[in-house]
Amino acid sequence: MIKSKILLHACCAPCLTAAHDRLKSEYDIDIVWYNPNIYPVDEEKKRLAELRRYAGEVKANLIELPCNDDDIVEWKQSVVSFAHLPEGQRRCSECIYFRLNKMTKFAKKEKYKRVATTLTVSPKKSAILVNNALKKSSINAGLEYIEADFKKQNGYLKSIELSKAHNLYRQNYCGCEYSLSESKQKHEI
Ligand code: SF4
Repeated sequence: MIKSKILLHACCAPCLTAAHDRLKSEYDIDIVWYNPNIYPVDEEKKRLAELRRYAGEVKANLIELPCNDDDIVEWKQSVVSFAHLPEGQRRCSECIYFRLNKMTKFAKKEKYKRVATTLTVSPKKSAILVNNALKKSSINAGLEYIEADFKKQNGYLKSIELSKAHNLYRQNYCGCEYSLSESKQKHEI
């Protein structure tokens, strides 16, 4: 069977596990990394290193989009007005749209026809919020997209199992400086 090609945006290795496992029988998957939200730099390096390792272990092609200081400044401009809001609200919809919009522009340039994201694996991420951002960015680029909620059908559980099996680092906050502060406050209580 010839599988159709997709570009799958990945936020981290643990979330990639379940989404990749769900999609691999049907699609020929290229993975793309673009996450200027992740703070601090050492954390970003750690997550990317784990993603590289996992992609290698499942023999998947990983594309790393350039992410320089300008990307980080632009990302911050897109969310800063909503920084005071808790995780799951407008700050996150803007953050996710920013990343997926970059991904779909790249996909269009490279002639992919269909895109997806791992972002619905997390129980903290609303599938409606993520799929709305994916839909908007895909329509902008004239691409098809896979609407999914990868946490369902035991997807989140699968991500924990596969992360343990591959000894992956699992972070305890979403990624940005705001979510890091929220996580620290929560653990101090
Ligand atoms: S909590 Fe996560 S999705 Fe929300 S703004 Fe921060 S990094 Fe982005």
